[in-house]
Amino acid sequence: MYQKLIYRNDLRSLASQVEEKAKAVFSDIAKVVENNQAKVLAAFREAQVSDYHFASSTGYGHNDRGRDVIEHIYARVFEGEAALVRPHIVSGTHAIALVLFGVLRPGDELLYITGAPYDTLEEVIGIREEGRYGSLAEWGVTYDYVPLKDDRVDFETVAKKIKPSTKLIGIQRSSGYAWRPSYSIKEIEEMIAFIKKIKPELIVFVDNCYGEFTEEREPTAVGADLIVGSLIKNPGGGLAHSGGYIVGKADLVAQAACRLTAPGIGAEQGAMLGMNRHILQGFFLAPHVVGEALKGAVFAALLFEKLGLETLPKWNAKRTDIIQAFRLGTKERLISFCQSIQAASPVDSHVRPEPWAMPGYADPVIMAAGTFVQGASLELSADGPLREPYIGFLQGGLTYEHAKLAILLAVQTMMEKQLL
Ligand SMILES: *Cc1c(COP(=O)(O)O)cnc(C)c1O
Repeated sequence: MYQKLIYRNDLRSLASQVEEKAKAVFSDIAKVVENNQAKVLAAFREAQVSDYHFASSTGYGHNDRGRDVIEHIYARVFEGEAALVRPHIVSGTHAIALVLFGVLRPGDELLYITGAPYDTLEEVIGIREEGRYGSLAEWGVTYDYVPLKDDRVDFETVAKKIKPSTKLIGIQRSSGYAWRPSYSIKEIEEMIAFIKKIKPELIVFVDNCYGEFTEEREPTAVGADLIVGSLIKNPGGGLAHSGGYIVGKADLVAQAACRLTAPGIGAEQGAMLGMNRHILQGFFLAPHVVGEALKGAVFAALLFEKLGLETLPKWNAKRTDIIQAFRLGTKERLISFCQSIQAASPVDSHVRPEPWAMPGYADPVIMAAGTFVQGASLELSADGPLREPYIGFLQGGLTYEHAKLAILLAVQTMMEKQLL
């Protein structure tokens, strides 16, 4: 069946060469997976996870023991004092917004030091006109950012932009829809040390989306006060149906919790609606699934490099997230690539994605996600904003084998259409 699907002999032989060459990188990934799996297992044992933790709660969700255990495990594994892990957090953007609105007060300033933040945050912050209802700007919270300098944090400018009103520093670990490297834990450690040296009371939060389990530590282990992410990305392990997490200093997590629910309620309410088993089992699987996704990204990078496309990161670069970007150069290629990934998906393989004005994004975006959990991007997905130079982003893959097949099918289709 493999030969029937990937019928081009030249492409199959190229795939074999890629896998042969990538062996050493795959074995490095296996080591990270092993260590993270050990960390997760240790936390499950310590928390004495049991069948009754999977029971569903209703109403206010008081005494949801499973919820407490989930939050204990997240805090342990991600090395924070406390965690808020809820299916009621609708997305990564929502989780970040909870931190921003939870921590900042009128007159405070948010300073992003890793360039402009992820597209969807523009409306949260109030940079773009259209999303201003309830934005930080409307509440009198100001914002500034430090453009990158040669893809790196411009420390000199960061130091200049820290003012008395600066309260929260934003660091985005993953590149998002930008052609820049993602920042490793070691680099984030340097950023945080720099900030704390200037003004120790500054609060540093890291948008950790797509980064979880790609390295052996998370930013909280190197001084981040808060980290934030989405459960339909890495830590959900492909099983969480929805949700987000916030991990870090207990008082700051509590402030975000008061935003999610209400002051006085905080993290104490919130029926988990039957999600506990999925969230726990997903977190248990996450180190392995992230490893599968990483191997898929490495395979794609080396294959594309052999086909003459520019890739970021390079196939053998040290990775700190699951995203693989490649410069496709034309709109036709980007659309064809995403449509092919969709066609090679286990769900909705028969539908064809088209570019659309997705809420929160400034340019039309094409998104392929034939996923079991809608829009989940730890499952194999491909996307890209329709703007020059037509960069495609590929991420996820519940199994390496699926990622490999889908990437080969997409390349085969482009070859047949003379797009490659
Ligand atoms: C995915 C992502 C987000 C949040 O996106 P949602 O679609 O709202 O979950 C934020 N920052 C980065 C870097 C991301 O990759």
